[in-house]
Amino acid sequence: MRVFLSRPLTVEVETRARAEFDVEIRSNTAVMSADEMQRALAEFDVVMPTLGDAFDAGVFSRVPEPRCRLLANFGVGFNHIDVAAAMSAGIEVTNTPGAVTDATADTAMTLMLMSARRAGEGERLVRSGQWQGWHPTQMLGLHLSGKHVGLVGMGRIGQAIARRCHFGFGMKVSYLARSAKKLDFEARRAQDLSQMAAEVDVLVVAVPGGAETRHLINGDVLSAMRPSAHLINIARGEVVDECALIAALQAKQIAGAGLDVYEFEPQIPQALLDLDNVSLLPHLGTATEEVRSDMGHMVLDNIAAFIAGRELPNPV
Ligand code: NAP
Repeated sequence: MRVFLSRPLTVEVETRARAEFDVEIRSNTAVMSADEMQRALAEFDVVMPTLGDAFDAGVFSRVPEPRCRLLANFGVGFNHIDVAAAMSAGIEVTNTPGAVTDATADTAMTLMLMSARRAGEGERLVRSGQWQGWHPTQMLGLHLSGKHVGLVGMGRIGQAIARRCHFGFGMKVSYLARSAKKLDFEARRAQDLSQMAAEVDVLVVAVPGGAETRHLINGDVLSAMRPSAHLINIARGEVVDECALIAALQAKQIAGAGLDVYEFEPQIPQALLDLDNVSLLPHLGTATEEVRSDMGHMVLDNIAAFIAGRELPNPV
């Protein structure tokens, strides 16, 4: 079986992949072109795509008899793959849930603190040489302890963020999800997104991307938020209407935002870059050596199971 990995991975994962499989590892770190995706489907039994590799219906239709039988995605989010089109082409899809949870929750906390305490703005001030020194009313931000957080999405990552907020910061927790959760701490399930947005100090987006959640955070939700509130998005850029967010930040309708993901990633509108009340990270959610190795091993475990004809550990 021929295996294609669409990105360089950590040394330990590449070493294992080379030891266990007949593998080709692409050296380019950019997203795959349509030609590359079609070649991968035609020439390999297993392909590892990742974020941004747009395996849409068109790509599958241009390879009517694919050699590929498994797309072993690197990452928990798979909104870049048309899973229904893959299935009808006879291709199974797996992902890497769990491995990413704590690291992504930590990134959400980083952004919450950066936005609430104006850390990016402060760092820019120091670097600019314009800082005049400490005084009692300099750069006052929002004190997070004891405040109210609203999670939009209460799955693995949403719950890990909620735990950090509850146990670490003594925050009140509300959440919106399709189903009620059994939790070992107090959290209120909200019924209406705009109503929850109006009540919280920090609104955190932790739902998967895709058609169902596109622009879930729109102008209406943003205008329901308090002027002192912050929006954090560690999920997928398309969940937030970026134009509406820019307008809300420009009008100071909300106090700030912290973003790890962008609607047209990696393109970021100049209007967003020009704003001081937004903290911008380059999709760092899972970016630690350990986590990227854990994710890589999950991909290889899915591939190994597929090749051995065993049940796939992480089908989507
Ligand atoms: P998950 O365990 O599947 O949780 C998703 C949550 O969203 C669930 O609570 C689900 O509700 C809820 N949800 C789904 N569709 C919804 C809808 N239409 N309306 C309201 N709630 C909805 O996923 P996860 O592991 O927490 O990951 C969440 C997402 O984070 C991933 O899909 C990925 O896109 C993103 N992510 C980003 C990074 C990064 O680097 N920034 C890293 C990892 C993941 P139910 O529980 O009721 O089903």
